[in-house]
Amino acid sequence: MEHYADQYIGGCWRPAAGPDTVVVLDPATEQPIATVPAGTAAEVDAAVAAARAAAPGWAASTREERLAALTRLRDGLVAHRAEIAATVTAELGAPARFADAVQAGTPIAVASAFLDVLADHAFEEQVGNSTVHAEPAGVVAAITPWNYPLHQIVAKVVPALAAGCTVVLKPSEETPLTARLFARLVDASGLPPGAFNLVTGLGTVAGAALTAHPGVDVVSFTGSTAVGRLIGESAGRGLKKLSLELGGKSACVVLPGADLARAVNATLANVFANSGQTCTAWTRLLVHREQYEQALAIAAATTPKYVPGDPSDPATRVGPLVSARQRERVQEYLTGAVADGARLVAGGPGAPEGLDRGYYVRPTVLADLAPDARAAREEIFGPVLVVLPYDDEEHALALANDTEYGLAGAVWAADDGTAVAFARRMVTGQVDINGGRFNPLAPFGGRRSSGVGRELGRHGLEEFLQTKSLQF
Ligand code: NAD
Repeated sequence: MEHYADQYIGGCWRPAAGPDTVVVLDPATEQPIATVPAGTAAEVDAAVAAARAAAPGWAASTREERLAALTRLRDGLVAHRAEIAATVTAELGAPARFADAVQAGTPIAVASAFLDVLADHAFEEQVGNSTVHAEPAGVVAAITPWNYPLHQIVAKVVPALAAGCTVVLKPSEETPLTARLFARLVDASGLPPGAFNLVTGLGTVAGAALTAHPGVDVVSFTGSTAVGRLIGESAGRGLKKLSLELGGKSACVVLPGADLARAVNATLANVFANSGQTCTAWTRLLVHREQYEQALAIAAATTPKYVPGDPSDPATRVGPLVSARQRERVQEYLTGAVADGARLVAGGPGAPEGLDRGYYVRPTVLADLAPDARAAREEIFGPVLVVLPYDDEEHALALANDTEYGLAGAVWAADDGTAVAFARRMVTGQVDINGGRFNPLAPFGGRRSSGVGRELGRHGLEEFLQTKSLQF
């Protein structure tokens, strides 16, 4: 067990200011694997001061200098891919194969995409008698969750640095080891001291101090809708630029004529990936009433193939949830759903067979719930799919949009044109058409309670820029 006692501030690892620590647990064994400092408000002050001191110099750097440093950072991610995957498996419980392919692979793809965006971006444009300059927005507070710990860091820190901003990162207390590894790679990439700073610690202490700090110009937050509202209030008081990537309860709509088995199996893979701890997960599957029982039969046959187990075993497809708290939350939703009259198509409450240690739950498919039942409306953040029948396309659309969220979604149809026509009427930020693939250049973000602002690609870079218009 490692006891880390330093924070990365101003280009070096400084001894922690206070004695308090955060204990990191292995979710598969429930055993402690490390402690990291629980950052104080004084450390946040020091990190913001370092970022402010570095801001003018980094803002004045050329595109080529930024590209060179960020290319070295991306190459560091590539070179340390195995260590990244192992770290995410250890502190999150992500299965080894998924940790390599997605938890380590996606941030590499996202960082590479931002290099392309930076290489081509027009930081200056002519509008009538004005020249409009896109300038770095200043010091960025990045607050990230635990479910895709490196992806969420890279999706904020890399575009912020590419824009010429400097950054203070407060990662989730559940997954600080991935963040420390990222800080080591930043250190090796030769960015100027203070351009990137890391303060580990609790959200209510270090996170709250950072988002309210007067020295911060931009707040970029990913996490729960409840905390997002608090941060929005605090950033609003300081009139800071703000982006919030929050929760979701996305609909996957299977229109008549689609390949039902393909759509249902893709939905199960989507919902059970990362033990269901994915903000974009298609947790509501909408199928035509005439195909409802057939869809449930497919789900009943496929779900038992998702056997929870030891995440370090390369054969494992589903690991534990991140924490005891998260497991209790999912169990409460499952017992509540049963009380609300759900039919258990697969899985259900209780621990998976043979797994009495570790934060495991059973991959579960629920049917026969009313659309307004809690499990059908609220984000569960576990491997739980709710299947709802619809009567016609208008009913499907009403159900899809009858949610406080609007982050992602999917449409399956006999042809892309039919699916696109439906998707255009969905109130949401992204829709995958007939199994469309993740695109690290496409804007990502939500409507309504799923947040404000966009990450990834050109839109993600622009979150960290402010315009200045010069008139001639
Ligand atoms: P969370 O909101 O509890 O915590 C997220 C981060 O905020 C952590 O770093 C935490 O320490 C910090 N934090 C907590 N309270 C704070 C406060 N008062 N001030 C400042 N910072 C504070 O969320 P979580 O449990 O880590 O993540 C799960 C949630 O995140 C889910 O609801 C999920 O849908 C959402 N999520 C959304 C996206 C997205 O892109 N839309 C991505 C991943 C996760």
